Amino acid sequence: MTEEKSLGQALEEKLLVKPKSLGELDNALLDEAHGFCEGYKEFLGCKTERDIVDYTIPLLKDRGYSAFELGRRYEAGERFYVENRGKNLIMVTVGSEPVSAGLRICVAHIDSPRLDFKPNPLFEETGMAFFKTHYYGGIKKYQWTSIPLSLHGVVLLNSGETVRIDIGNEDGDPLLCITDLLPHLARDQMLKPANKVVEAEQLNILIGCWPYDDEKVSAKVKLNIMKILFDKYGIAERDFLSAELCAVPAFKPCDIGLDRSMVGAYGQDDSVCAYTELMAELDNEDPPFTTVTVFIDKEETGSDGVTGMKSFMFRDFIEDFVSAYGLEVRHVMRRSMCLSCDVNAAVDPCWPEVFEMTNSSFLNRGPVVSKYTGSGGKYSTSDASAETVGFLRRILDEAGIPWQVGELGKTDIGGGGTIAADIAMHNLDTVDIGVPVLSMHSPLEVTSKADVYMLYKAIRAFYASTLVKP
Ligand code: MN
Ligand code: MN
Repeated sequence: MTEEKSLGQALEEKLLVKPKSLGELDNALLDEAHGFCEGYKEFLGCKTERDIVDYTIPLLKDRGYSAFELGRRYEAGERFYVENRGKNLIMVTVGSEPVSAGLRICVAHIDSPRLDFKPNPLFEETGMAFFKTHYYGGIKKYQWTSIPLSLHGVVLLNSGETVRIDIGNEDGDPLLCITDLLPHLARDQMLKPANKVVEAEQLNILIGCWPYDDEKVSAKVKLNIMKILFDKYGIAERDFLSAELCAVPAFKPCDIGLDRSMVGAYGQDDSVCAYTELMAELDNEDPPFTTVTVFIDKEETGSDGVTGMKSFMFRDFIEDFVSAYGLEVRHVMRRSMCLSCDVNAAVDPCWPEVFEMTNSSFLNRGPVVSKYTGSGGKYSTSDASAETVGFLRRILDEAGIPWQVGELGKTDIGGGGTIAADIAMHNLDTVDIGVPVLSMHSPLEVTSKADVYMLYKAIRAFYASTLVKP
């Protein structure tokens, strides 16, 4: 016999928040999430913004997208994309509502922390050849030694030809690494603060130790490496001056946990949001409001440059698109709504001291909505209004999507921004949503498969919602 609820219990149910994990709400969810995350793991094989753009365009063409035509007045259901410099993509599905009713926009960044090559990367020392790097984004440098690395990027030859470099992604490829000091000789190193244990100028990638066979040559190992590169790619040392090359962890995306409930991979910040956005965009074939899905670059270094969120590229495109309907970009922006999709820090019980447990995000509790990010006294954040968060809340709750809120750790303990502020500057209502990540910005970031799948459902709900923005 079930006992009747006490008055207090009934009141508690009505008035208080009692968080439940996705696994408690629906234990079968993981089975669905597994399937979704197989596609996600394949996507994670793309390690740079260029890789992601190249991977995505054929998918778009398969699903009926064609390149944007300036001046064309697109009809409901039509789909198109814009590519910017091989590093940004804007994907659009025209809704049944008029474009003047506003757009539903989702933005995610497709750059991740990594080791960029310096303009003059190649040197030889004590019979070994190395590439010098300059780190990109916020990394703990000591995490990047003693792990396998792969190389990605492009080299521009003087002929104007672009050579694509990709070493270490295919089975059987050689891999590279940065060495670390053996513990036996690391007594002084181990006494240093963590930010000095491995310093930026020690992030040199070991690429060879075998000499070119000619007594008259001085830098024999360096020459041997350059000959290998010349034979394979037709590049000489001078060509590094006009190149964009980087090293990233070579780990293949994998399942984590004996229950296979998590994904482990490099670059999940922010490929997890890019992939879920992309799938939501592809699967929402007849949206009520026009959907605009944006892959942006340079978030990890402050969103500057022609491919970053601060570039006029985004606004220029919206203007090109809406002017075909005789509309002004500012009027459309004002009626639109944007989800700035980016990850948040999942509570890690090994470091409870940095998290404020009533306002941090937890693995397996679904997408995390962040009203604001930034640091200190809410510096450098757009701080979404109650109305904006309320609007998203209605959409998620109506679609039955479990979600949580999350601040990035305790106030004043650190902080970090997203591109929300660079979007909101267009007078465009914006709020952050993403998934909680463990070991963020490390070579092996961890997410929960159920969270990943639920973020996809949340973005789909946002794109499918007929709710009119207040
Ligand atoms: Mn991010
Ligand atoms: Mn990041």
